[in-house]
Amino acid sequence: MSESASNTPVNFIHQIINDDLASGKHSGRVHTRFPPEPNGYLHIGHAKSICLNFGTAQKYGGLCNLRFDDTNPEKENLEYVESIKASVKWLGFDWDDRLYYASDYFDQLYEYAIALIRQGKAYVCSLTPEQAREYRGTLTEPGRPSPDRERSIEENLALFSRMKSGEFPDGAFTLRLRIDMASPNINLRDPVIYRIKHQHHHQTGDTWCIYPMYDYTHCISDALERITHSLCTLEFEDHRPLYDWVLDQLDVPAHPQQIEFARLNIDYTVMSKRKLKQLVDEGLVSGWSDPRMPTLEGLRRRGYAPEAIRHFVDMVGVTKSNSLVEVGQLEFCLREFLDATAPRAMAVLRPLRVTLTNVPAEHAERLVLPRHPKNPALGEREIPFGRELFIDRSDFEEVPPAGFKRLVPGGEVRLRGAYIIRCDDVVKDAAGRVSELRCSCDLATLGKNAEGRKVKGVIHWVPAAEAIPVEVRLYDRLFNHPAPDAAEGDYRDHINADSLQVLRDALVEPSLAAAVPEQRFQFEREGYFVVDRFDSRPDALVFNLTIGLKDSWTKP
Ligand code: ATP
Ligand code: MG
Repeated sequence: MSESASNTPVNFIHQIINDDLASGKHSGRVHTRFPPEPNGYLHIGHAKSICLNFGTAQKYGGLCNLRFDDTNPEKENLEYVESIKASVKWLGFDWDDRLYYASDYFDQLYEYAIALIRQGKAYVCSLTPEQAREYRGTLTEPGRPSPDRERSIEENLALFSRMKSGEFPDGAFTLRLRIDMASPNINLRDPVIYRIKHQHHHQTGDTWCIYPMYDYTHCISDALERITHSLCTLEFEDHRPLYDWVLDQLDVPAHPQQIEFARLNIDYTVMSKRKLKQLVDEGLVSGWSDPRMPTLEGLRRRGYAPEAIRHFVDMVGVTKSNSLVEVGQLEFCLREFLDATAPRAMAVLRPLRVTLTNVPAEHAERLVLPRHPKNPALGEREIPFGRELFIDRSDFEEVPPAGFKRLVPGGEVRLRGAYIIRCDDVVKDAAGRVSELRCSCDLATLGKNAEGRKVKGVIHWVPAAEAIPVEVRLYDRLFNHPAPDAAEGDYRDHINADSLQVLRDALVEPSLAAAVPEQRFQFEREGYFVVDRFDSRPDALVFNLTIGLKDSWTKP
């Protein structure tokens, strides 16, 4: 990637790592991890964390683990595990044989908890969640000790063992660290590290009915994997003292350094998994991979390229201050990638029949056009040209508005890659709707050098005989408010009702007959489109609008 070439750190984390390498900390190793909880699909925000963790390991010749942070069995499942793995791979990263689950460490975590009890640093507490909240105090008031705080080590060991063996119902007890109920940092006021949950787990089945909490699990998992730099988002800054406290008490193989960075936030979307799940569960989108979703699966299905997402994340950079990035910037990166790589083709989304009255029915010419204007390596395509063709309804106006450069009665226009035509007659159906244009074609006007006559407009078209009928899905932003989370009312009040329009009588040029799922094209003058991953069939192609041609974002 660009920055490894120059080796200049463009983010503060790389600066820290450079210093660590210089001082010999972590004996010169760089080992990171990406730790998703399998409670939903990954979103574009996660891409930042993936690129940072895997990218940092790559940059320094280190390693990056994929670790499922699976301590909440009731919210997690294997569908999420599988989609997360697929998304990380799709983005272009690989964990090789380093796939871990926090649940791999449940035995060790339990042993460490016993060690803490033995040191008098953990105790079994019988306060209900409500009582515990009340005892915890506030930002301005210290907490009060639980009545169980001075319970004897023997009693704590016995109760914890009975918690594990399933003797108590959910919520009857918790195991808490014994740190400091007066700490100004609420995270240190005897946090709960185990709770009772009689709940099946997607990895460990029914082995456990007590589950460790995130803060306790995460630092120990990092240490057991000998992670050197544990990169997480800013909201964990106040948890860092707890992370360090736990590792300082225990005999663990390493003490990783937690470093916090700013989350990626993007306008015109929501990014919390809870809300994304709500959109799915309430049927407001077709699923986690709906092309309007900010999930990596959604972006993939929409036609986003992993290269464009990685470039975007690079551009946004890694900082310590939260900010809202314009979705236009992501789209800019996507357009830049697609412009350079997507083969061109012609598609008529709302067909209007054109008959070239002076072209004989047996005229069968095959025009040859490049697939890409700047990349001859992509080759050429053939388009049959004859008497009958289709243009887009929007390229003809009977009563043109000022400045209209396309086809009008009596006017001329060039067919892209072909000839100049003139509209002689407008045919209407019984309802008065334009049903056909009868035009004449100037067969002396093919090619760039036949420009004795210039016309203002160039429009795209498809040949009637061989055009392929396809379904086209026009997608727009899911929300019509730049900050649906912060907007008045519920974020769901700001869903864009016109975010999906399905066109069932679109036509594409015959060179697309063999288009395969996920192949991306520029439909000339229309935008970038991708063959739908799931719904397209060889004999019934479905194209999704990835993005329009016009840029809305300019570098600030
Ligand atoms: P959400 O709040 O959206 O549900 P999360 O933080 O709970 O996300 P995790 O599965 O715990 O989701 O996240 C895995 C990793 O990705 C964590 O290290 C987390 O900090 C990081 N991450 C999550 N969202 C973002 C974001 N918007 N920007 C950067 N990193 C993120
Ligand atoms: Mg989380």
